[in-house]
Amino acid sequence: KINIFWFRRDLRLDDNAGLCHALDSGLKVLPVFIFDTGILDHLEDRSDKRVDYIHQALENISKELQTHNSGLKTYRGNPLDIFKRLVKEFEIDTVFCNRDYEPQAIKRDREVADLLEKNNVKFSDFKDQVIFEKNDILKSDQSPYTVFTPYSKKWKEHLKTIEIYETDFSNFAAIKSYEDILKLEDIGFKKTEIKFTEPSLDKKIIDSYQQYRDFPAMDHTTHLGIALRFGTVSVRKCVKFALEHSETWLNELIWREFFMQILFHFPYIVNHCFKKKYEEIPWRNNEDEFKAWCEGKTGYPIVDAGMRELNETGFMHNRVRMITASFLTKHLLIDWRWGEAYFAGKLLDYDLSANNGNWQWAAGCGCDAAPYFRIFNPEEQTKKFDKDWKYIRKWLPGNYDHKPLVEHKYARERALETYKRALT
Ligand code: FAD
Repeated sequence: KINIFWFRRDLRLDDNAGLCHALDSGLKVLPVFIFDTGILDHLEDRSDKRVDYIHQALENISKELQTHNSGLKTYRGNPLDIFKRLVKEFEIDTVFCNRDYEPQAIKRDREVADLLEKNNVKFSDFKDQVIFEKNDILKSDQSPYTVFTPYSKKWKEHLKTIEIYETDFSNFAAIKSYEDILKLEDIGFKKTEIKFTEPSLDKKIIDSYQQYRDFPAMDHTTHLGIALRFGTVSVRKCVKFALEHSETWLNELIWREFFMQILFHFPYIVNHCFKKKYEEIPWRNNEDEFKAWCEGKTGYPIVDAGMRELNETGFMHNRVRMITASFLTKHLLIDWRWGEAYFAGKLLDYDLSANNGNWQWAAGCGCDAAPYFRIFNPEEQTKKFDKDWKYIRKWLPGNYDHKPLVEHKYARERALETYKRALT
C-alpha cells in the first residue's frame, strides 16, 4: 500500500503541512499533480504565464524528488476521472492534500473524497494555505467577522507559536522508470517569458514597507502575490518574518486571510454584492468606455498607467489597483464584476477571494467597504502618491494627449446620485 500526496496550490516541498503529514504516515508517498481541464479549458490565452509558472514550479519539485529516487506524477484531465484511474493502478491507503476554500475547490474535493470512500481509500486534508481558516476566528456570538479591524485583532490574539514542518525525504515512494512531468505543449499551452524564481523574503523591502509601499514608482512591495497564490512560499514562513520585521506587512497577510474566510462563509459573493441592496445599482455598462479603461485610454494618466502596467506585466501596484477599480465603478459606473473579470484574466497573482473582496471594497458593496460617497479623485491621488509623474511616465512614455472620457466633478456627482437613489 502507498499514500498519495495531491499537490494543488501548495507547490513546494518545504514546510508543506499536508505533505509532511503524508510523509509521517508510515507508508511511502507518491506525489501527484493534476492539470485540471475544468480550470485550464476556461483560460483564453494559450500562453498564460500562470500556467507556465505552475509548470516551472512543478519541474523544480520533480527534479528535487528525482535526487531522492522518487518523482512527481503529473496527469491532465478531470480530477475525478484521474482518481478513478489511480485507485485501479495503485493500492492506495490515503490521499493527502491541503485544503482550498474556493467554492469550486470545495465541491471538487467533496466529489473526490466520495469517490475514494467508495473505493475504500481515505481522504485526509490539512490547513496549510492560511494560519487561520473556517471557524478558527469567530466573533463571541460564533458568527464570522465581516469587518477587518476586529478580525485582525482577534487573529493576532489567537496567534501562538508557528510550527514549521520538516520534510522527511526518505519516505517518498521510489519510482523505478521515471517519466518526466507532462510538457506544457502536452496540456495545450505554450512557453512564455515568465521566469520562475525561488520566492524570497526581502528584508530591505519589508523593513521599510510601511514608509514606501504606497508610492507606485518605488515598487516597494514584495511581489510575493503569485508565490502565495500557488503556494511556492509558505504563509507560515511569511508570517514569522512579518512578526520580526513589519506589522504593516503582517496586516496585509491578514487581509488575505480575511477575504479567504469571507469567501468561505459567504460563497454567494462570487457573483453577488456582499451587501445585497447594492444589486440595485443601475450600472451604465458602456462597452466603449469599458474598452477604453481596459486599454488604458481613459484620459486619466494614473488610471491609464496602471492599466498599461497590468496589460504589459500582469502586475499592478496596489495603490493603483484601488484607483483604477474606483474609476471603473464610480466614474464610469461600470459593474464591478466586469473589472473583476478583467483583472482575473490578467493578474499573475489573481486570487478569487482577494480579487473579489477588493473589487467589492472599491465598488462600496463589499464587507468592510469604504462608504460609497468616498470617491477617489485620480488627480489628488496622483499629487499624493506620484507627484513627479515617475510611475505615470514609466507606463505612458512619449506623447500622451487623451481627452478625459468623463469630467471628474460631473462623474462624481453622477455616481453619488446613482448610488444614493439605488440605496435609499
Ligand atoms: P505586498 O504588498 O508585498 O503584500 C504581501 C501579500 O499580502 C500579497 O502578496 C497578498 O497575498 C497579500 N495582500 C496584500 N494586500 C492585500 C489585500 N488588499 N487583500 C488581500 N490580500 C492582500 N491580491 C491578490 O493576491 N490577488 C488578487 O487577485 C488581487 N486583486 C486585487 C484587486 C483590486 C481591485 C485591488 C484594489 C487589490 C487586489 N489585490 C489582490 C490586493 C493587493 O493589491 C495585492 O495583493 C498586492 O498588490 C500584491 O502585491 P505584492 O505581492 O507586492 O504584495
